[in-house]
Amino acid sequence: MTDCIFCKIVQGEIPCARIHEDDRVLSFLDIGPINPGHALVIPKKHYATIFEMDAEDLKACIVLCQQVARAVFKATGSAGLNLLQNNFRAAGQLVEHAHFHLIPRPAHDDFLTSWPAKSYPPGEMERMLEKVKAAFSAP
Ligand code: AMP
Ligand code: ZN
Repeated sequence: MTDCIFCKIVQGEIPCARIHEDDRVLSFLDIGPINPGHALVIPKKHYATIFEMDAEDLKACIVLCQQVARAVFKATGSAGLNLLQNNFRAAGQLVEHAHFHLIPRPAHDDFLTSWPAKSYPPGEMERMLEKVKAAFSAP
């Protein structure tokens, strides 16, 4: 993708604070960190979202996520860490090249301060389960 910023980073056309790379995947520090040490893991091949990703690229990403998470956690001395992956604008995705966020968390910060959990009306959880299982069986 010629106009994709992360493809340009993969190609070396734009610099990045590179942590690690191999044939399939690349990890670098996020230029606009939620907290210092916030890192990204991306597949080198362009996929817009996680939905299109080849299974081997996805496996390589998640393994590197674990390795980088350990490194970021240790280097920052954080109390916690979020693995976050946004798909489509409605979910907060701004860069349309699939990526995984590793966000180190101190004991208290201003990120994800609320988790607005809801409850299902009677019968709705069962109905939703049937819809998701049907979609799972016939994607
Ligand atoms: P998202 O909202 O999930 O699409 O997140 C995209 C992330 O990419 C944001 O956290 C940006 O700060 C980060 N980002 C954008 N451009 C660069 C860049 N050139 N180098 C490093 N991180 C970047
Ligand atoms: Zn791309």
